[in-house]
Amino acid sequence: MPAIFTVDVEDWFHILGVAGTPALEEWDRLPSRVEANFRRFLDLGDAAGVQVTCFFLGWVAARFPYLVREAAARGHEVASHGYGHRLVYEQSPAEFYEDALKARLLLEDILGGPVKGYRGPGFSVTKDTPWFFEKLVRAGYEYDSSVFPAARGHGGLRGDRYGPYQIETSSGPLLEFPITVTEVWGRPRCFFGGGYLRLFPYTLVRRMTRRVLQEGRPVIFYAHPREIDPDHPRLAMNLHRRFKSYVGLRGMEGKIRRIFQDFPITSFARFRADFGDSFKD
Ligand SMILES: [Zn+2]
Repeated sequence: MPAIFTVDVEDWFHILGVAGTPALEEWDRLPSRVEANFRRFLDLGDAAGVQVTCFFLGWVAARFPYLVREAAARGHEVASHGYGHRLVYEQSPAEFYEDALKARLLLEDILGGPVKGYRGPGFSVTKDTPWFFEKLVRAGYEYDSSVFPAARGHGGLRGDRYGPYQIETSSGPLLEFPITVTEVWGRPRCFFGGGYLRLFPYTLVRRMTRRVLQEGRPVIFYAHPREIDPDHPRLAMNLHRRFKSYVGLRGMEGKIRRIFQDFPITSFARFRADFGDSFKD
């Protein structure tokens, strides 16, 4: 069983739900670091010979369309992180649909090919957004990786299904790849992305990854370009969020290199092509 590595391609100021998060109208005036950081991430992938899934924020793709084409040219899967990076549960169903559709059409226009996967900002699909999956199908997506099957800051959808599964909606089926958790002392825990990956020592991440793969589930790792850029500007936020947002930045690049070395890495597109329907719950 391989691990699926994903990167949410957004800038250093796209941290959600903190006091200093700038509004979309201000993004154009901020010093962007996503281009240099994403290229460094692509170089890490090239050095290890791995192909991953890149969930592009539509706003980033509109500003740097050549990064979308470069990711595809270097063998990676291009997928969608929505357009405006608003929490799912802060949008109406119609607003969410428009944002998800706009991002897919923009990415497909840049790429000249289909975009099948979606990941929502901050894994913010919750029990309060039951319309989420049907709207994604209507917006033209085949699979999603937005469900975080444990409690977390903004979002989380507790459930008993940890592996990939199919969701039937009134508009058709959607394949769900929840963010990977594994139970520790009876509670689902994530070790595989963002602040969790930055916080925990690599030996623990490796042990938990082996455990999940041995259970026959793919591990889904996730990272952001800003996380391999320890010197990026900081947003104003309280101490708790500051810790979660900025802990362990110096060690992240080394951890990603070791993940690429230690595990067979693939993208969602290749995983679906290799495994067909056999992996679903
Ligand atoms: Zn994001």
